[in-house]
Formats: sequence, C-alpha cells, structure tokens
Amino acid sequence: MEKKNVQEILDRIRAELSIFYEIGNAMRSTLNLEEILFIILTGVTSHAGLGFNRAMLFLVNEQEDALEGKMGIGPHSVEEAGLIWDRITSQQMSLEDLISAYTFYKKGGSELDKAVRSIKVPLREDAGVLAMTALEGMSFEITTDETRRKTENDPVLRCLRTEHFVTVPLKAKDKVVGVILADNLFTKKTILKDDIRTLTMFANHAGLAIENSRLYEQTVYESNTDTLTRLWNHGYFQFLLTEELKKAYESRSSLSLVMFDIDNFKNYNDSMGHQMGDQILREVARILKTTCDGKGSVARYGGEEFTVILPNLGKNTAQETAENLRKAIEGYPFKGQEVQPTKNLTISAGLSTYPEDALDKERLIYLADMALYEAKRTGKNKVCVYRSK
Ligand code: GH3
Ligand code: MG
Ligand code: MG
Repeated sequence: MEKKNVQEILDRIRAELSIFYEIGNAMRSTLNLEEILFIILTGVTSHAGLGFNRAMLFLVNEQEDALEGKMGIGPHSVEEAGLIWDRITSQQMSLEDLISAYTFYKKGGSELDKAVRSIKVPLREDAGVLAMTALEGMSFEITTDETRRKTENDPVLRCLRTEHFVTVPLKAKDKVVGVILADNLFTKKTILKDDIRTLTMFANHAGLAIENSRLYEQTVYESNTDTLTRLWNHGYFQFLLTEELKKAYESRSSLSLVMFDIDNFKNYNDSMGHQMGDQILREVARILKTTCDGKGSVARYGGEEFTVILPNLGKNTAQETAENLRKAIEGYPFKGQEVQPTKNLTISAGLSTYPEDALDKERLIYLADMALYEAKRTGKNKVCVYRSK
C-alpha cells in the first residue's frame, strides 16, 4: 500500500474516532429526545462531523406500524447552503458549538424540517425505500442513475427533493427504531462506500441513544399518569397548574380551574361493587377527556374527584365548558346507574378563575373546592362558580 494511502486511511480513522467521541459525549449529556435527534443530525451534517449536506430522521411508531418524520437539518437552497457554510467555516464552528445552537434552531425550524415532519409512511414493503430500510434493517444506496430510476416515483423522496442519497437503519440491539436519510443535494459530492460505512457505525450508536431516551420519556410519562384512568395524576396536575399559571401571568391572560366530583358515588359502589365503580371512573375520565377536546388538561385529583385546567378561559366561557362536561356525563347511559337516588349517574363542579378570584395556585384550588361544595349543598348535578362579590 502506498504511504499516501495509509496516511489517508489513518487521517480518516482519526477523524471518525473524534466524531464518535464528541457525539457520544453530547448524546450522553441529555435524555431529551428532540435534543438527541438534533445532536445526531448535527453529527451527520456538520463539516466537523460526517459532512453530508442534509440529513433527515424518521422514527418507527410501533402502535401505528408506520415511520414518522421527526427532524430534518440542512439548507433549503444552494444560496442558503453557501451562506451557512461560509458562516460555519469563517467562525470555525466545532461540533460542540453547533450542538449548542439547538435552542436557536428550536425557535426557527427550516423548510426541510417542516417537510420531514409532515411525512408518515406505512411500514410495508411497497411503501418505498424508507420503509424498506426499516423493514430489512439494512442501508440503501441510491447513488447511481440506474438505482435512482427505481425510486423516481417515490412521493416521499420527491417531497424531500432528494436524488442521490443513502438511507441507514437506526438500530437499538436488534430492533430498528428509525431511519436516517442523508444526501449531498447542493455540493453533488459522490457518496462513497467509506461515507456509508461511517454513517452505519454512527447510526448504531444513535439508535441506542434514541431508545434510551424513549424509555426514559415513557417512564416519566407513566410516573405522571394515573394507572386506573390514564389521566394525569395529582402530582402532575399540581405541576401543570403551576406552569400554566406562570404562562397566564406572562401573557396576562385568564385561566380557569374546574373541580368535579361524582355524585353519591359511595352509594354506587355499595350497590354495584367497587370493580363496577372502577369502571365508572374509567368511563367518566374518558368522557371528560374527549368532551374537553384539547381545550384543557384533565387530571384525577383524588378518589372520584377530577380537575380540568382551562388556560385562556375566563369565567363565562369556562362555565360553558364545565356545563358541557356535566351534561355529557348526565346524558351517558352508565351501567347500573338506576341504583343512584336520581336513577342517573351525575357529577357536580366548582369553578374558580385566575386572576380575578385568586393569584396563587393554592387559593385557586381552595376556591374551586368551595364552589364544588356549594354545588353539592344546593342539590348536586350542577356547576357552581366562585364569585368574590
Ligand atoms: P357526594 O355526592 O357528596 O360526593 O357523595 P359521595 O358518596 O360521592 O361522596 P363520598 O366522598 O362520601 O364518597 C366518595 C366515594 O368514592 C368513596 C369511595 O368508595 C369512592 N371511591 C374513591 N376512590 C375510588 C376508586 O378508586 N374506586 C372506586 N370504585 N371507588 C372509589
Ligand atoms: Mg369526593
Ligand atoms: Mg362524590
């Protein structure tokens, strides 16, 4: 082997090791999935990293048996590419500098990123090269005109405006968790075997980091979720209310809090048994959540008490929402509800509003509770609104 060749190989290996070292450190510094994806794609695209022009990342959604676009990094046009590369070279940005640009990136979100996030392909053999990469767990190189012809009609590739590219599976142990697609759309630099080899090795590290972060996020989600109803639990309700009150303060907007309590639930349990009672709690939770339709966050406060945080809603609109929720429960044919005193399973509600009733969380909860107590005292199956005057 020529001396020059050996030197080239050595340089390449040295560069690869340094990339893996830097990216590995960066990936270990966070468990946030978005941040991990950003680090991975920065590694694939930056000059200090693998140096592709653009990189896009897709994750497997096991429930839906589909591959979903999550993030894309790269310029939109040749002009933009020129500007970005000039800046990076003139400022001698290292991989670390680029990664710390994440907060900046998060605000923007490029055209490519938007296009990637709009993509969802079923995991089927006839669904194109991305799906095949995930299904086969192997990389695809579409780097010649001949291979390109086979993928010409793929709508996903057309949407991404990619021609010559490579796809690699992201693997965590033996499972494929996603796919990376990388190309050199602007420089038209030929993708070499060595590039693909490095990208494949890199993708194995990346797959593991993604899996760890997903497991962590799943654990956090479970720890905030009530096991019986799958609503947010008491602890997360307290956290959410604190956060939403901060936002309401910053944006000078209102926030309403509704507390619900099932009427005569002890009676239902005593007549129908606790397992049937549990089923009622699950159904009430589901109805509250679907009727709320994203307007608010529903939580299980305690036994048969629920809360709904309604950001941006003043008293009157919040009262309407609470009424709709009450009616939805009143109108639902719950099993065995004829054992109830009114032959119907119903709920009562109390409502308080920030900032007019209270400025702090504890007081807001206390006042909603007071209003709920008033609803119980004055006949149940109604919404009472706290009014300071
Ligand atoms: P009110 O109309 O005044 O609210 O009457 P109530 O009977 O609903 O009120 P009370 O607070 O006396 O009773 C609440 C009951 O809710 C007591 C308990 O048996 C029931 N409960 C609380 N948590 C659960 C649960 O997880 N599962 C079941 N099945 N019942 C529960
Ligand atoms: Mg109660
Ligand atoms: Mg009750």
